[in-house]
Amino acid sequence: MCVAAPTITLSFWVTVILRQTPTWTLFLKQQTYIFYSPFFEHQSSEATMTGTEPFAKQQQQQHTSVNGDVCSEAAVEDVFDNTYKEKEGPKPPRILVWRNIILMSVLHLGAVYGLFLIPAASPPTLLWALVCFLLSALGVTAGAHRLWSHRTYKASLPLRIFLAVSNSMAFQNDIFEWARDHRVHHKYSETDADPHNASRGFFFAHVGWLLVRKHPDVIEKGRKLELSDLFADKVVMFQRRHYKLSVLLMCFFVPMFVPWYFWGESLWVSYFVPTLLRYALVLNASWLVNSAAHMWGNRPYDKNINPRENIFVTFSAIGEGFHNYHHTFPYDYATSEYGWKLNLTTCFIDFMCFLGLAKDCKRVSREVVLSRLQRTGDGSHRSG
Ligand SMILES: [Zn+2]
Ligand SMILES: [Zn+2]
Repeated sequence: MCVAAPTITLSFWVTVILRQTPTWTLFLKQQTYIFYSPFFEHQSSEATMTGTEPFAKQQQQQHTSVNGDVCSEAAVEDVFDNTYKEKEGPKPPRILVWRNIILMSVLHLGAVYGLFLIPAASPPTLLWALVCFLLSALGVTAGAHRLWSHRTYKASLPLRIFLAVSNSMAFQNDIFEWARDHRVHHKYSETDADPHNASRGFFFAHVGWLLVRKHPDVIEKGRKLELSDLFADKVVMFQRRHYKLSVLLMCFFVPMFVPWYFWGESLWVSYFVPTLLRYALVLNASWLVNSAAHMWGNRPYDKNINPRENIFVTFSAIGEGFHNYHHTFPYDYATSEYGWKLNLTTCFIDFMCFLGLAKDCKRVSREVVLSRLQRTGDGSHRSG
């Protein structure tokens, strides 16, 4: 019983991922998945860094040199495009994707069951679940988001490999698709072309967008994005080629087998707590950036956009809840003007810089922040 049950449930995921590849691929591709989107639009780094106000249009960000040895120059299309207009007339019909609905339901039922198993888990297993949570989250925040979507700093090859492996543990679609979708989110925020358009309500922005067919404009705009920097990154492309295998290994097998093999935890607890529960928690923490941080909170930097400063999201998504700041200054590697405060991801990147594995972190100057606060803020800014 102890071995059979997790084996059966695990085999469900294996079947879905490996044996039904066409449909599963459809799931990933059509849902443009994953979560997270949080973070903002990019402005011209040159202009903003030197004191010129960033604004909607000027924002074709040119990053000189990306990711260490990869790409000497790349344009990051993550700046809001105010020239886009939603098509008039009736919206396309909402088409449910039942496979995704079932998979998400099964995952969350398993996660809820995992909650009840927490008292049965040994302390090392709970600590391991926390480690897996943090690794998964960093693979998204420091990796797919701040490095690959926004190019806010440069990372050495070892760090990029580490972040790619961690990203597979988070299973939020491969880095390439995640970054593409995130750039579309910044460029067309709160419109039909935004994958998780928050103007369609909390549920849609949180998870609903993964359960229905994409709006045609999301697909169209995503195809037109400039993504040469991602194509040129061998780590990104390698992860994409071997994504299904890496997810099976990092998101399911490793979290489950480590507690069982090293300290004798039952496979049952290992499967439901550090694996399914941890996976669902990271997903929801990421989704909250798209939902809660686009609806609730202050807008001290730009009251004209939806993204907000949300402390709860900042805490759960290890530093990604300063969302009004992030959408206003998307090229800032810290996604906040407050440095390490509630921002584990920034601590991690700084530590990588200390070790010599990362460098060239982009920041917004104090004077630019102050200028922006006065010009477009809602007056709620606090200085610390
Ligand atoms: Zn956002
Ligand atoms: Zn972002």
